[in-house]
Amino acid sequence: MQSCNSKIMTGTQIAYYLICQRKLWLFLRNIEMEHDSDTVSIGKLISDTTYKRESHEIHITDDEDDIALDFYDSKTKTIHEVKKSDKMEETHVWQVKFYIYVLEKMGIDNVRGEINYPKLKQKAEVTLTESDRKKLKEIREEVKKIAELNVPPEVINKPFCKQCAYYELCYV
Ligand code: SF4
Repeated sequence: MQSCNSKIMTGTQIAYYLICQRKLWLFLRNIEMEHDSDTVSIGKLISDTTYKRESHEIHITDDEDDIALDFYDSKTKTIHEVKKSDKMEETHVWQVKFYIYVLEKMGIDNVRGEINYPKLKQKAEVTLTESDRKKLKEIREEVKKIAELNVPPEVINKPFCKQCAYYELCYV
């Protein structure tokens, strides 16, 4: 079995933890079935064109976390995240809360986040509260526990499973 990569926390791990713990387990074992689908390409296109001029992806990594910010405005201390989705989702908010958390850890206080949805022409404001910090710490511990499981968590039988890259692996 391939080794787990749960020591370094990423925004993707947080999203998968919240969506489906089985998906997270498969992902942590490097069983990656997400591919360059049309959806991914459209998302990349929106990301590349809409925010091209002001966007510089910033990669921050340490021995605990690894994040990539679409754009960080140091004057207003704002993280800008672009989502191709046509739906505003809680997982997006938690990813940005995690990014704020990592910047705080680096000593940058009063950071806020803004998620831009070009397809919806909407944006969501994100802040980090004390209970969010606590929850992120709990998620980190939970991710470690899931990574150590010898067998994956059960399938969750949700309607969105049909759109998941692991669908065939889980159900067929
Ligand atoms: S298909 Fe469903 S159960 Fe399987 S990993 Fe994806 S979301 Fe989880």
